[in-house]
Amino acid sequence: MIDGIRLTKAPIRWGMVGGGRGSQIGYVHRSAALRDGYFSLLAGAFDLDPDRGRAFGADLGLDPGRCYPDWQAMFAAEAARADGIRCVTIATPNNTHYPITRAALLAGLHVICEKPLTFTTSEALDLQAIAADRGLVVGVAYGYSGHQMIEEAARLVADGTLGEIRIVNLQFAHGFHSAAVEHDNPAARWRVDPAFAGPSYVLGDLATHPLYVAQVICPHLRIRRLLCTRQSFVSSRAPLEDNATVLMEYEGGAVGTCWTSAVNAGAMHSQKVRIVGSKGSVEWWDEHPNQLRLEIQGEPARVLDRGMTYLHPQSLADDRIGAGHPEGLFDAWANLHCRFALAIEAHEDKDPARLAGLRYPGIEAGVEGVRWVEHCVRSADGGGVWVDYA
Ligand code: NAD
Repeated sequence: MIDGIRLTKAPIRWGMVGGGRGSQIGYVHRSAALRDGYFSLLAGAFDLDPDRGRAFGADLGLDPGRCYPDWQAMFAAEAARADGIRCVTIATPNNTHYPITRAALLAGLHVICEKPLTFTTSEALDLQAIAADRGLVVGVAYGYSGHQMIEEAARLVADGTLGEIRIVNLQFAHGFHSAAVEHDNPAARWRVDPAFAGPSYVLGDLATHPLYVAQVICPHLRIRRLLCTRQSFVSSRAPLEDNATVLMEYEGGAVGTCWTSAVNAGAMHSQKVRIVGSKGSVEWWDEHPNQLRLEIQGEPARVLDRGMTYLHPQSLADDRIGAGHPEGLFDAWANLHCRFALAIEAHEDKDPARLAGLRYPGIEAGVEGVRWVEHCVRSADGGGVWVDYA
């Protein structure tokens, strides 16, 4: 159970790039990192507009001298301070993730970066090599994976309750961009511009979330090949897709599907992960994150609830309030940030034993998301053909 007692020696001195006033995800990062005292926000280059960024930092209560006009100034000035930041979160549009993460690592900072980590696999591997070389953590903000029922689904797969895994059925298909809202909405505009978003829209922006959740639940599955088709139903978004379908074949015979969309008119997130085994299935929806549906063939379907003592002990580790009360996205993100902090301290103390059993989306998860998108785009742009996964 999480009760507010910090499990690390001291709060991590922390800064942010992006996530400024009015941004979609900035507050979620701050809420998650600050919730349990694992991080202490001391510096920021919060906005593309230097004045707006500095004013925002001051409004957050930061020392105005540590509210920087840009990330270059922040990394240089903080490196020169004895009490400089040790970790930085990067919550900017996708095109900036690679250069800012690279510079942060070279400045000796641990990084928590938004997804997709980079535009290309080779960029992501470059970051992985630098982080490994310097003993630094790169956490990736796959926030949904911090929901407790994901852990329960993973345990049900690991203990054989579902039998042999046959089918992975993923979906993240919202309807918020059914029309060309990007004309009036800057946060939607960059998402459909390849210069800012990268080689994909919904594949990278949305589908990488359930993809990572499925990897947590079924860590043994390795994709062998995949086929993707993608469409731009709002035609001005081409070449970026606002809808895509992916078929996957895994080593060993399991198969998977993923439908991702921003034009699922009328839908909210519609993010689903369904795992089907030879004996039964589990299904989790992010709009009902406290519940996990467990269906065993020949038995009545069950709905498992977060916080109940019939869950695996590991699924109760992040319980904050007990069963019955709903927990949500902010709690899931805070759970991940506890683990990021524990991982950072274990790296700094050069104590890999403390990493055993600590599950968090690290650089491998970031690399894998980028690799998957790259393969999907190659398949789709090749005419919807099978491509071997390498
Ligand atoms: P946004 O457009 O709402 O906000 C971006 C923020 O970054 C703004 O404050 C902007 O001024 C700032 N910014 C841009 N370039 C900058 C730079 N060079 N230096 C400093 N600040 C800069 O975008 P958003 O929706 O918050 O998305 C940001 C990132 O978070 C994207 O990569 C997106 O994919 C990701 N995201 C992730 C989740 C999730 O669930 N993990 C959810 C939403 C967004």
